[in-house]
Amino acid sequence: MKKLLTQLAKEQFNKDLIQCNNAELFVLCLALTKREIENKKRITGNRKLYYFSAEFLIGKLLSNNLINLGLYHDIKNELASIGKNISDIEELENEPSLGNGGLGRLAACFLDSIATLGLPGDGIGLNYHFGLFKQQFNDLKQTEEKNAWITPQSWLEKTTFECDVTFKNHQLNACLYDISVVGYQNGVNKLHLFDVKTIDESIAKSASSFDKTAIEKNLTLYLYPDDSDREGHLLRIYQQYFMVSAGVSYIFDEEIKKGHSLRKLHEHVVIQINDTHPTMVIPELIRRLQLEGISFDEAIDIVTKTCAYTNHTILAEALEKWPLTYLEECVPQLVPIINQLDELIKQKFSNKKVHIIDEFKRVHMANIAIHFSFSTNGVAKLHTDILINEELHDFYEIYPERFNNKTNGITFRRWLQFTNQPLTAYLESKIGNDFYKNATALEKLLDYQDDSETQEVILEIKQRSKQHLVDYILEKENILLHRDGIFDIQIKRLHEYKRQQMNALYVIYKYLMIKKGHYPKRPINIIFGGKAAPAYTIAKDIIHLLLTLSRLIENDPIVSQHLKLVMVENYNVTYAEKLIPACDVSEQISLASKEASGTGNMKFMLNGAVTLGTLDGANVEISELVSSENIFIFGKSSQEVIELYDKHSYRSREYYEKPEIKEIVDFIVSDELLSIGSHENLSRLHHELINKDWFMTLLDIEDYINTKEKVFEMYEDRKKWSKMMIVNIAKAGMFSSDRTIKQYNDEIWKLK
Ligand SMILES: *Cc1c(COP(=O)(O)O)cnc(C)c1O
Repeated sequence: MKKLLTQLAKEQFNKDLIQCNNAELFVLCLALTKREIENKKRITGNRKLYYFSAEFLIGKLLSNNLINLGLYHDIKNELASIGKNISDIEELENEPSLGNGGLGRLAACFLDSIATLGLPGDGIGLNYHFGLFKQQFNDLKQTEEKNAWITPQSWLEKTTFECDVTFKNHQLNACLYDISVVGYQNGVNKLHLFDVKTIDESIAKSASSFDKTAIEKNLTLYLYPDDSDREGHLLRIYQQYFMVSAGVSYIFDEEIKKGHSLRKLHEHVVIQINDTHPTMVIPELIRRLQLEGISFDEAIDIVTKTCAYTNHTILAEALEKWPLTYLEECVPQLVPIINQLDELIKQKFSNKKVHIIDEFKRVHMANIAIHFSFSTNGVAKLHTDILINEELHDFYEIYPERFNNKTNGITFRRWLQFTNQPLTAYLESKIGNDFYKNATALEKLLDYQDDSETQEVILEIKQRSKQHLVDYILEKENILLHRDGIFDIQIKRLHEYKRQQMNALYVIYKYLMIKKGHYPKRPINIIFGGKAAPAYTIAKDIIHLLLTLSRLIENDPIVSQHLKLVMVENYNVTYAEKLIPACDVSEQISLASKEASGTGNMKFMLNGAVTLGTLDGANVEISELVSSENIFIFGKSSQEVIELYDKHSYRSREYYEKPEIKEIVDFIVSDELLSIGSHENLSRLHHELINKDWFMTLLDIEDYINTKEKVFEMYEDRKKWSKMMIVNIAKAGMFSSDRTIKQYNDEIWKLK
């Protein structure tokens, strides 16, 4: 065993390793890892990717960096030799929550895979001083706390890069922090996070209250500041422009240093625009190329060959449309360019749906991104089909060759090797280590699906993960789950389309059954986690319902022997890493057509959970891979749902009138729940479900309950269940982000 830390402890503290406390050990681990990263080669090439994203939900980095450096086991063992557990050292790292959920986590997985494949590609984003808020529960309701993560022990490296970014009434000085991204057994790329030199953390009063107009002090303070008012919208525009303008300065700098002509930008640079947030990079690039003496027409040509756009959603409210007056107020230099682009499009196409500026003078950012890029991709097969056939059909008719699918993926370094070390070790003992570099090699496990011993070991590993989780949740949430129960988990942002409320209705159904004396064969643990946007009233009402139900069950000595509900506080990447290995049933129950892909579904599958889901997003591809015996699908199809929307024919009340459904829904405002929870929140949610239910909970509730009961019945056949787990693990290789990135590179980026 190498004594890397021992040596460093002498150098840094003049101590023996065993004399160091955890904080010192953390500092040593960090210093060691940073030194090793510095010794790695920077990945270079003749054509480079810049991945522009408003979010990078990178999570803690210590263990993942050690894994990618090939040092994890050495360090773990060296710590163990002085009686320390590496996970206690990891605890000391703050999680940088520079993203909301799936979209930001995807960007982080992509950076890992880009470096692992040895492709030259950097991330471009913002250095938010307060990441996504810390969620707390008070009086059974979510409250938000500001989430400071930057300390001297963070991974940020101050660089010497600086540039100016000009706004209408301000000129700001941008500076740059980098975070190194080390590939698995490969070199280093960088995540570039721009910051404002004059930022002032002291103006941040709470999770959301601050002077929104002082942009020289606030621009990079918050991830997604509250945008429920005009000032909030303007701040978003300031942030987006700051990111893309500084990003362009950085790229131009690199290109000029390499001796490349900006006329040939498209030969050496590709810019991936992650969702609409960085779309202003298009008019900004055109403007900057013109300043370099390039004509408008040629600039458009260069930019269109340089940029590619990823669409992440078909929810209309998520496709950004900025009033032209807002842009005039913040970034007037872009307005003439956007107007020119708009005229160009209006001359060519009469169809209003593809115009850039609409009749209300709003600028459709996605439309800019599609017209002036060479690629538009969706993030799962079904999602791309819906883009092509429905949402973006008019664009598809103009540019059929630009549309393509890139089904999302996850990095197996984090979501298997790190989070599930016992499973990883067992897989390696069974099928060798090919799967580290080639994830589809997991299919070799299929040979063992009927092998009793393998089935037993797979169940044992799951059981051990559950025990760890039970201990962790008892400590964090003060709720004792049933160790031998079923672990049914729904963790993701709170959103009506994701339908946590439907799972809550199942809990009510089960509660009522138990009250009537119908006990389940085995205790059921239903676990939720997720944050609601601070201004999203109904999502917060759903959290309140879950917390109220949890309390009701805890207070009931009979029901709690059979059923547990826990809503974990402050769900984030770190919590996901603890929850996912312990899961039996992965809840992926979005209204069909609404979840673009999902990536949580992939993490669970890889860790041997069986999916209970609708045919939505990447669930469709999971279901094709494992076949219908190894997944539980329910609910109306995306085509049926799209038709209901087209015809405006869904009436939740018609479903509510069925007595069995009515009993469950009305329990939300029962005396039992109202004696614990708040009348305002519960009755608002009850009213919403009956009278609106925009995401059609009641459409699928019966099918959901029946299917879930079948799942729990099937769980009792432990051999058969273990076989299902094995097939799910074996078939998960397709969802490695290494595969996704290889496809991006082969079909879009073509990096050299
Ligand atoms: C993977 C992940 C998500 C995305 O989950 P979905 O179920 O796909 O919405 C969100 N948040 C965190 C912390 C994650 O790790």
